[in-house]
Amino acid sequence: MFEEIYSPVQKINLAPFNNLFVKRDDLIDPYISGNKWRKLKHILTKAKTENKTHLVTFGGAYSNHLVATAAAAARTGFTSTAFVRGEEVKNEMLLLCHLFGMKLIFVDRESYRDKNLLFEKHFSDDADAYFIDEGGASPEAIIGCAEIIDELTTTYDHVFCAAGTGTTAAGLLAGIQKHHLKTKLHIIPVLKGGSFIADEIANYVALSQHLQLHLDYHFGGYAKTTDKFISFIKDFIASTGLLVDPVYTAKMFFAIIDLQKQGVIKKEEKILAIHTGGLLGMFGMKDKF
Ligand SMILES: *Cc1c(COP(=O)(O)O)cnc(C)c1O
Repeated sequence: MFEEIYSPVQKINLAPFNNLFVKRDDLIDPYISGNKWRKLKHILTKAKTENKTHLVTFGGAYSNHLVATAAAAARTGFTSTAFVRGEEVKNEMLLLCHLFGMKLIFVDRESYRDKNLLFEKHFSDDADAYFIDEGGASPEAIIGCAEIIDELTTTYDHVFCAAGTGTTAAGLLAGIQKHHLKTKLHIIPVLKGGSFIADEIANYVALSQHLQLHLDYHFGGYAKTTDKFISFIKDFIASTGLLVDPVYTAKMFFAIIDLQKQGVIKKEEKILAIHTGGLLGMFGMKDKF
């Protein structure tokens, strides 16, 4: 049902690193981007197996997951609906969702909290409807994200990845354990107070020595930023030619550079940064640049 995944590993020229590589999951697809495709792949397969034809999911107004679900649905013959958190708004992300044929239902923050109830209320008599949790969190998503490690043709001392819910991190940890690698997995939660990520990962995979969380690179939280961080991002993009976004991947690269300065990682060690895509999310902060 799906085409082969295109996600090359490329070397980044960034002093003082000698062996810094990036797995370009952002190149998988401009809309079904990065880890969102990794997560959706097996979810959609399961929905097809169960003869479902209508994907129902949840997200904020700048959610990469909504655009990814809308595009993936349209490409693979599903219809789609999303519950969008908050007041009705228009923006670039929701325009894309709309163009891909997704029906948008805006719900207040209070009702949004109980996703199962929303699904029941609107779709209990729709036998074709298939529930996909916010961000695609599910056992199928873990399998899809573990495949990132399956694709590697060499071993790395360190793998870095940004985390929102921790689903992608759980998949990467599962992959590292499955292949019995010595690789350290460094996870950068983008939310403030990101230690909950460890519990989230533990829901799916046994925690192990491989995992290291770095809680101090959130820059104020999910949709927050600072002037200093914005100038870091501009410099990084202009000097590497690699586009990163202020919500996720830029925080990961900042952490890599900072941890090298602190001596936690060495410049000659082999490092792989997972570019989880999601570049359209940049529109949510366009006024900051
Ligand atoms: C959604 C997203 C993440 C977070 O993934 P989780 O599995 O929720 O931790 C990371 N990076 C990008 C670019 C994303 O869009």
